[in-house]
Order: sequence, then structure tokens, then C-alpha cells
Amino acid sequence: MTQNIENHYDYLIVGQGIAGTSLAWHLHQSGKRILLVNDSSLPSSSKVAAGIFNPLTGKKLVKTWLADEIFPYAQKFYAGLEEKLGVKILHQASIFRPFRSIEEQNSYLAQTSDPGISRYIQSPSEQQNVPEHVHAPFGGMEVIRSGWVDLPLLLDKSRDYFSNLSQYLESTFNIDDLKVSEKSVFWNGYGFDKVILCQGFNARKNELFNWLPFTPVKGQILEIEIDKLATNQIVNQGIFILPVSETHCRVGATYSWDPLDWETTAAAAQELESKLKPLLKVPYKITGQLAGIRPSSHDRRPMLGIHPDYSRIGIFNGLGTKGVTLAPYFANQFTEYLEKQKELNEAVNIKRYFSLYFR
Ligand SMILES: Cc1cc2nc3c(=O)[nH]c(=O)nc-3n(C[C@H](O)[C@H](O)[C@H](O)COP(=O)(O)OP(=O)(O)OC[C@H]3O[C@@H](n4cnc5c(N)ncnc54)[C@H](O)[C@@H]3O)c2cc1C
Repeated sequence: MTQNIENHYDYLIVGQGIAGTSLAWHLHQSGKRILLVNDSSLPSSSKVAAGIFNPLTGKKLVKTWLADEIFPYAQKFYAGLEEKLGVKILHQASIFRPFRSIEEQNSYLAQTSDPGISRYIQSPSEQQNVPEHVHAPFGGMEVIRSGWVDLPLLLDKSRDYFSNLSQYLESTFNIDDLKVSEKSVFWNGYGFDKVILCQGFNARKNELFNWLPFTPVKGQILEIEIDKLATNQIVNQGIFILPVSETHCRVGATYSWDPLDWETTAAAAQELESKLKPLLKVPYKITGQLAGIRPSSHDRRPMLGIHPDYSRIGIFNGLGTKGVTLAPYFANQFTEYLEKQKELNEAVNIKRYFSLYFR
């Protein structure tokens, strides 16, 4: 098959969620010619996500995997895009965690003696007042180096940027339309050196990679309207309350496995409200509800790398509950792997699952 130079790209990136978008930016900024293809009519987890980055999670205040490296990298990446795209994407905001009891207060405060944890907790002298809209009879602690990213805005502006360069195509990708030769991969009249699939949950349907242990998790969030808030602090106790403006918050999230669809349910709304009501001191009105599917993996680590039999076809998936921070860091690592043959972190390389392919 012959190709003219106009129709040849270094990379085809399939899917423009946060995985595909982060990878597109990294390859673009390293001088590669990419084509992003995305079907906007398909559901996208990135459009549903609250976009929070939180270095200490769970009831037990566990430090997020690789937080010390991943968080600063992600913040630098988003700040760089803010400058390039001229929009506000990155919102720094601390996370107020009300204590449930005196026992919890003591146990959390004991954990702060660990220097790995204490760098993410505001010192008592600097701590802000308990947010006025929150019920916190035992006080609380303030997690810092946290915040949220406006993913829908980032995705829209990135799509516009690549569209203006004629490097974004609104289309449905079907793996059967790929033709692989020794020197190139062909799709839809275009030629590429490599194809990287960033399809989120939809990758499960992809015959080339359906042997990977996808373990998707459905999640739902509520959008609420509230009286004018005096703080941009995120609140986290079993659920999060994220102020996205002075009068609007996102509340989430649920975790469920059956059925794995993109429908909102009354049961999820009820579950979220049952946690919200004891926490909020002020009236609220529900204005919306969203559902999505987190593309998680069996061992809860990202899944990236090159297909065992097709050296020109790769995947970037498995971002699970933490796409906002994992995507930029591993997009950078993937770019260095693809372009400079630097090793991928073994914990994310799909090589760890090759035995499933060859069995
Ligand atoms: C309720 C909820 C709340 C969440 N909150 C957070 C949070 O606060 N912080 C956080 O870090 N993470 C959060 N997440 C997780 C986050 O959403 C994911 O980690 C991340 O969005 C995954 O991104 P992705 O690019 O892999 O997949 P997606 O965002 O799903 O993107 C896949 C893209 O591929 C496209 N596509 C798929 N197949 C095709 C095809 N055949 N042809 C063309 N295009 C195709 C789709 O249109 C889509 O645009 C949350 C998730 C949910 C569900």
C-alpha cells in the first residue's frame, strides 16, 4: 500500500479521554505527528469524573501509589496546558476530612507523625476553619497538595487544538479496519508508524486486547445546587463534596459492578444522599446525576505497552479511579518508552499479563 506524506502520521491515538489526551500532548510536544480519533457519541469516563486528586485516601488515610512523583508531575502538566490553551483547568483546593469520632481523631493524628503522610496534612497552626456548611462535631484535618481538574474543559479545548492542526478526527474506530504491514499500520486511508488504543472501558470489546484482565467499576455522582459557599475546600467523609462554583457542587461517588452500564439509578442517588444529609448543614437541590465506568484492572494498576504479537499496536488503559494523576505521568513514561526505548515501570507494563495471552 502506498501513502503520500500528508496521509502519514507517526501515531494514531484511538480515544480522547484523559488517557488519549495526555498521550497526544506528550507525543505532540516531543515533535511527533499524531492523529487523534474519537467517537464523541460513545460514553467517556473522563466526562463523568469529578477530577479530584487526593494524596491520602480511604478510611485508613493511605498514601496514593507513587503520590510523591505522580502528583507534582500531573500538576506541572496541567499548569502547562492552562498556559497553552488559555483556560483554567487546574484548581488547587485542600480536602477537609471531618473526624467521625474522638477515636478516629486520635488515630489520624497519630498517623501524622509519619513524615511520608505529614507532608500532605496541613499543620494545625495553618489549618483553615471548619467549613461553615459542614457538620463536624469532632473537628477534622486538612489534606493539602490536592485539588481537582476540569476534565470536560481540558478535553474540549484539547480537541479544538488538535482539530485546528487537522490532527483530530471525529469517527468510530473498528479494529477490523486496521491493516498491518512490516513498515506501517493503515487505517481509513491513513498510514501510521504505530497505533495506541486509549479506549477506556470500551477496550474490553477490542479483540486484540480482550485477554487483559479488565475489572471495570461503575460509579455515579450527583450535581447539587447550594447556597453561596464561603470556601472552595473539598469535603471528604465516605463521599466527597466538591465545590465547582460558589453555588454548585459535585457529590460522589458510588462503586458498583452489576449491571455495568452507563445508566443513572435511583438507588445510587439514595445512597449518596444518605451520606450527604448527615454531613451538610445547609439545604441543597439536586440538579443532575451522572454515571460512568472506571476502566480498572485486576491489580488496580494502569495497563500500558505493546501487543505481544503486533509491535506497532499498543494500549494505554487501566487508569481506574485515578485517571487525573496517573494519565500524565504514565503518558510521559509511555512516550519515553516508544521514542527512547526507556523501560516502563514493571507494575504498569502489560508484559505482566502476557501469560494470559499465550495460555
Ligand atoms: C463517577 C466517577 C467519578 C470519578 N472521579 C474521579 C476523580 O475524582 N479523580 C480521578 O482521577 N478519576 C476519577 N474517575 C476515574 C476517571 O474517570 C478514569 O480514570 C479516566 O477518565 C479514564 O480515562 P480513559 O481515557 O482511560 O477512558 P475514557 O475517559 O472512557 O475515554 C475513552 C475514550 O475513547 C473513546 N472511544 C472508545 N472506543 C472508541 C471507538 N471504537 N472509536 C472511537 N472512539 C472510541 C470514547 O469516546 C472516549 O472518549 C471517576 C470515574 C467515575 C465513573
